[in-house]
Amino acid sequence: MALPNNGTTADDSRFDWNSARTLLAGLPGGGINIAHEAVDRHVAAGQGERTALVSLGRHYERHKISYGQLAAASARVCAVLQELGVQPGDTVAVLLGRSVELYQAALGIWKAGAVFCPLFGVFGPGPLRSRLELSRAKVLIATETLYSRKVLSIRGNLADLRHVLLVADEPEQSIGDHAGCDDFRARVATAQPAATVATTEQSPAFMHFTSGTTGIPKGAVHVHGAVVSHLLTGQQVFKLVPDDVYWCTADPGWITNTVYGLIVPLVNGCTALVDEAEFDPRRWYGVLKDEAVTVWYTTPTNIRMMMRYGAALARTYRENSLRLAASAGEPLGAEAATWGEKTLGVQFNDTWWQTETGAIAIANLADDGRPGSMGRPLPGVQAAVVNRNLSKVEVVNDPDAVGELALRADLPSLFSSYIGDTSRFQSCFIDGWYLTGDLVRRDADGFFWFVGRSDDMIKSAGHTIGPFEIEASMMVHPAVAEIGVVGKPDLLLREVPVAFVSLNPGFEEGDALRTELLYYGRQHLGSAIAPREIQFVEAMPKTTTGKILRRALKAKASAEPDEDAVLPTSGYPGRFDDE
Ligand code: ATP
Ligand code: MG
Repeated sequence: MALPNNGTTADDSRFDWNSARTLLAGLPGGGINIAHEAVDRHVAAGQGERTALVSLGRHYERHKISYGQLAAASARVCAVLQELGVQPGDTVAVLLGRSVELYQAALGIWKAGAVFCPLFGVFGPGPLRSRLELSRAKVLIATETLYSRKVLSIRGNLADLRHVLLVADEPEQSIGDHAGCDDFRARVATAQPAATVATTEQSPAFMHFTSGTTGIPKGAVHVHGAVVSHLLTGQQVFKLVPDDVYWCTADPGWITNTVYGLIVPLVNGCTALVDEAEFDPRRWYGVLKDEAVTVWYTTPTNIRMMMRYGAALARTYRENSLRLAASAGEPLGAEAATWGEKTLGVQFNDTWWQTETGAIAIANLADDGRPGSMGRPLPGVQAAVVNRNLSKVEVVNDPDAVGELALRADLPSLFSSYIGDTSRFQSCFIDGWYLTGDLVRRDADGFFWFVGRSDDMIKSAGHTIGPFEIEASMMVHPAVAEIGVVGKPDLLLREVPVAFVSLNPGFEEGDALRTELLYYGRQHLGSAIAPREIQFVEAMPKTTTGKILRRALKAKASAEPDEDAVLPTSGYPGRFDDE
């Protein structure tokens, strides 16, 4: 598959999405379906024997699944869903860990023309109930434990939920006795494969709730036509080829797993690594090396955690098969990017996107990167720095001017609605631009630099300060493991920047270090934007996707007196239910 060669600049209006679409196989009878692009097309091309998945269980039980096996199993899942009355357009919610069944379920749901809606297993019954209600899911596929602990108590409240399919927690086991539930594995094993429903580019395919960093999460709906962006971004950002062993560490409840854990490696014909276990640096280093992972997609949080375990441990894994590592979700920062390169010997690239964009839009590439920046818009993505003016947007072309990041709304992967909130959806679009809510600047070479979310900007003494700039500078201090900077209300200056800091091993909280960090900030940032206050925390409050939860820090910063207040120290893996 060759890429249309249409350049890489922000003003790339010549990119022809229609010629890009010819790279898709398309359903034999016409139409586009993600499952067909992800598995069946490879089987039709005689590649059914190739390994689609390598799954590792908690105790390193290792299974290989071929494209042919995955195609057949998902056709049987499709049949089971149809037997349960699932119609095209219906939503099927999924509450599974990283497992082979997650892949079978997603692909089977797409084959049935239904909408895949994965949820975070770490949510409690409250957040699950609100999301299940909003999604109007008719069927839920869940692990036995997650169902018993979190859904059973709310099942009576879910008017739309008609059927529950359960997956036993241990491989090859059947489920226990649960009223109104069926055994997923048993039903799938005996079903007759069904043909893929004829979906079109506009048919809804999956729904994901945003991370809730800035408030109540929104359910963004994506269509089957997005798969062209998935195919292309896999090639543009990761240069994926079928021989790659590709590992995305995202949680199944986050869109990063659906797109870059599931769809992207499969549409590009690679082997996807599926590790069921939670974050553990030793295990992760071991998996990278032993499984000969060539491309690794993770988050800045995970990288910072690995940094905290020290460069010496990392260097023992320097002999590895990695050719590229990348991260998303928060700014990676030059510090972490360079650390990765130094210790694991591979380039660490930052990529920018959102639940709403449905695919990476801006990225550093293997041959075109600038550590610390978000990178440049990918081919076919038109990005601009704009100022919003009521119902107009004004494009700002001056290099380094700060404004809101806007994308031309013709991206095939862009969301098609927020479930149940049309007016909010409409308010994201002005004059053919999609407004992202992120503030950025673009340098003279066309690289975009993240400044902050518009809601997170700190307004102090007439300046508007982006928290990320302060964080990136302070991260260079050897004591700082993680840092979140927020504005604290101030009578005189309106707000002042306050830094919440967690420390690297070997450093002690106390007034001496606090003074040193305050001094360090003034020296490197100048007194106008340096933090005025440092608060030490054991662990940062995080969203389930591992992002620093600034609204919790803001609440903590504004609380008076705040010296003894305790943060929700979930740490990461972020176990902080955001409702
Ligand atoms: P919510 O919209 O509910 O507040 P969220 O925006 O965190 O949550 P996501 O869609 O998971 O939910 O995250 C997208 C956001 O994450 C982006 O808008 C941006 O603020 C941030 N982000 C993602 N990747 C990067 C990156 N590489 N650099 C800087 N910020 C990033
Ligand atoms: Mg958002």
